[in-house]
Amino acid sequence: MPRKIVAGNWKMNLTSLEAEELMRDVDALDRPVDVKVLAFVPALFVSDLVKTAEGVKIGVQNFFHEDKGAFTGEISIDQVRSVGAVCGLIGHSERRMLFDETNELLKLKVDAAINKDFSFIFCCGEPLEVREIGEQNRFVKEQLEQSLFHLSADQIKNKIIAYEPVWAIGTGETATTAQAEAMHAEIRKWLIERYDKETAESISILYGGSCNAENAKELFACPNVDGGLIGGASLNAESFGKIIHSF
Ligand code: PEP
Repeated sequence: MPRKIVAGNWKMNLTSLEAEELMRDVDALDRPVDVKVLAFVPALFVSDLVKTAEGVKIGVQNFFHEDKGAFTGEISIDQVRSVGAVCGLIGHSERRMLFDETNELLKLKVDAAINKDFSFIFCCGEPLEVREIGEQNRFVKEQLEQSLFHLSADQIKNKIIAYEPVWAIGTGETATTAQAEAMHAEIRKWLIERYDKETAESISILYGGSCNAENAKELFACPNVDGGLIGGASLNAESFGKIIHSF
């Protein structure tokens, strides 16, 4: 059975004090025992926030694949782990689009995370122009094949994938439950074809894209939606709390 997961992506929001306050509120939320809650916070605040968070696991929104060296402005897995981060996002569409992260680069990040035994959420999803011509399945499959599906069954077991259609991120336009379930079912099918049923069922597939307190219940009720990666609505503890209780 895939684990139920709700993960907040705080993006480049909040000052140190604001982040501290939000984490206090989020950590105080009642959490169902079978739901894992993560927060992908600005890397700068990880060391403070891990002291505040008792139940919420803290992750970073990005990391570099090299161990150390002359990579000005980048942060390594060892560095983020040394201040308490337990997980990282790989391939968020904002990284792909605004910072030109390619499938090839993301494969290097996946390999670095595997080599360091560092958990990650691998993000995939098509832009609007691809959906408009009905090519979303081919597009997302290619993202997975080029960056993730080179892993062995042992390596990919229990990992997390987030399907985030780019046209739904931060736009207020959520995928319909039919659109979300159709893609999630495809991803599960590709996992079965590439690996096996047991491996495919160990992987949580999260939906992301304007998921909020109002629509989370119907999205999480889809058979292949195992939770959500939440941007805007994760910046409000009350909304985030409702999403956590939407299974
Ligand atoms: C995200 O940043 O991954 C995301 C899904 O954002 P939002 O919920 O704001 O669309």
